[in-house]
Parts: sequence; structure tokens; C-alpha cells
Amino acid sequence: MSLLNVLDKAAAGGRLSFQEGVRLYKEAPLADLGAAAHARRMQLYPGSDVTYVIDTTINYTNVCNVHCTFCAFFRPEKHKEGYTMSHDTVLSRVKFAADQGATQIMIQGGVNPELKLEWFESLFRRVAAEYPGVDIHSLSVSEVIGLAHIEELAVREVLARLKSAGMKSLPGAGAEILVERVRKRISARKVKPDVWLDVMRQAQLLGMATTATMMFGSIETNEERIEHLHVLRELQDETAGFTAFIPWYYVPWKTPLRGKEATGLQYLRVLAISRLYLDNFPHLQASWLTPGLKMGQLALFYGCDDMGGTILEEQVVHDAGSTNAATRKQLEDIIIGAGFRPVIRDTYWNLRDDVALATAG
Ligand code: SF4
Repeated sequence: MSLLNVLDKAAAGGRLSFQEGVRLYKEAPLADLGAAAHARRMQLYPGSDVTYVIDTTINYTNVCNVHCTFCAFFRPEKHKEGYTMSHDTVLSRVKFAADQGATQIMIQGGVNPELKLEWFESLFRRVAAEYPGVDIHSLSVSEVIGLAHIEELAVREVLARLKSAGMKSLPGAGAEILVERVRKRISARKVKPDVWLDVMRQAQLLGMATTATMMFGSIETNEERIEHLHVLRELQDETAGFTAFIPWYYVPWKTPLRGKEATGLQYLRVLAISRLYLDNFPHLQASWLTPGLKMGQLALFYGCDDMGGTILEEQVVHDAGSTNAATRKQLEDIIIGAGFRPVIRDTYWNLRDDVALATAG
């Protein structure tokens, strides 16, 4: 099949084989790849709406026993710069976000062996009771596995207890590239790709909402990027449990791994191939936090239908050297500037007409 025919097939929602995905990713001109991804996105969501969520990330502890080489945020146990927030501090951050209209809270941190499952259960119960309008989209596969080890419990039981405490959604953090060769090189203490996928599967089977991410731009090859998309697509075929895919690139400036930052064109190419390859993922999110708002705006023409969150507060990516930040009005302005209409959503993609746009009036 010619390259053009493969692009046409993908733009119409046809399934790409692994070889076709690699070929498009490596050989298709970026403008053509972007046009196909945008056509597919407009076919899925024909109107002019672009969603976003008002959210915040609360990095409750930087103590971590996983020691990923791409991470500048963590501190090993007993390190003098290690911190863990009290529940009251976390609650005060939730209040700050809720007062600004937040409907989603991401409480995420290192894998701190001092923190037991009950610590999270009582925290989530308090958040759920005091802020019932806020969805707890929190932790990561690494933190869930850490709790299972500490408590000597099955992952499913840990997830079930977290869910009954109020955590209804598990973010796709910590996937990086779901290829064993890459994991061994950049995060050897992290769970293997099949375990990451299985934790997600179990969360989905329990009825939790989940997202999937990809951190690209470290040491992976082009083929390994497509392999990552491929294993996610397979799990989505099985469970249909992922709401969105969020690719973002590694920020190398202050991390032990070092390396080069991905370019804007590489970012757009990854977005476009993601929209085309992940034919069974409902949403593709522009992760403006690392490439910045202007690239986030361009992302809306490379397959993205969602601008992600306002991220009123965040530490992990900023510690690695990113300085990007945005207000709600800035986020809405770039959506409007691209010719779309900003629409506020919650974690489960319910539209939240009850929360006023910052640009309204
Ligand atoms: S990325 Fe997460 S798991 Fe890895 S060292 Fe940093 S905090 Fe720990």
C-alpha cells in the first residue's frame, strides 16, 4: 500500500498494523500526518468544542525508593530535603484548588515506604467528604504497587480499598515507554511493562476511570514508541477502560539521565501518530506542561480534542527544569485563538456547564 493510502486509511479510522504505524511515523511528511490526525479528530468530534479540566497536582511526598534516572523530583529515604505533607496541608491545597473551581485533584508523589494504605484511605475519605464536587484522580501504578508490597496485599485489594475511600480514577503516570529494554535503562526499579498494564487492567475491571501516558524522548527508538502505543491499544481492545492518552516529553535539564529535549516537531509527530494508531482511545490530550501553551495550541491541529488541565500547582516536571504554567484564562484564550470553543469537563468527560468559563462575560 502506498504511504498516501495508509494515511487515508488511518484518517478514516482504519486500523494500522505495527509496520504501518512505524512507516507512517518515520516516513510521512509531518503536514500530511497532522492533516490525517486532525481529520480523524474532527470525524470523532465534529463540533468546535475543546475540553479542559480545572485541576491541580499535589505532590504530597518527594521521598521515593524507585530512583528513576529521568526524575529530578525524588529524594531517597532519610535525605534532608525529603518531605511529606500532613493531611491538613494536602487538604489546604485541595481547598485552594476547589475555591478556583477545580473538579479534579491529582494527589501524586514518590513511592514512600513510610506511608501505609490507611494514610491514603483516611486522606481520601477526608477529601471526598469535605469536597464532594472534586474527583480524586490520584496516585500512579508505582504508588499502588508500593502499597501492595508494604501491606503484603494483592493489587486488586489495594485498589478496591482506595476506591471505597473515594479514589475513583487512576492516572496513567509512570508508564514512560512500555518496553522492557527501556525500563531497564531508565527506571530499573520500576514495575515491568506487563505489570503496569495489569494494574491498569485491574483498576478498569473494578470500574475505575483510567488514562494512559507516554513519556518519550529519553533513550527509546521510534519502533519502541509504536510498541508502546501497540500494547496500550491491545489492552483498550480488551477493557475499553482508558478515557484518554497523554503523550509528553522528557525534560532533561536537571535529571541524572540528561539527554536532549524533544523538538516541537517531534512532539507534533508523536501526537499525530498517537491519534491515528490509538483508534480505540476516545480522547487525545495536549500536554502543554512540558512544550508550553503555544505548542499546546498547535496540538489542537494534530489530533488533540482536549487541552488537559489547568494544573494550578505541580512540582515534578518543574523540578526537572520546566517553567511552564497557565491560568484558566490563558488556557481558554489559546483554545479560542485556535478557533475552538473551550468547554469545562470533569475526570469522566462529563461537561460541567455549572462551572463558568474564565473568559465568560
Ligand atoms: S518518577 Fe516517580 S517513581 Fe520514579 S523516582 Fe520520580 S517519584 Fe519516584
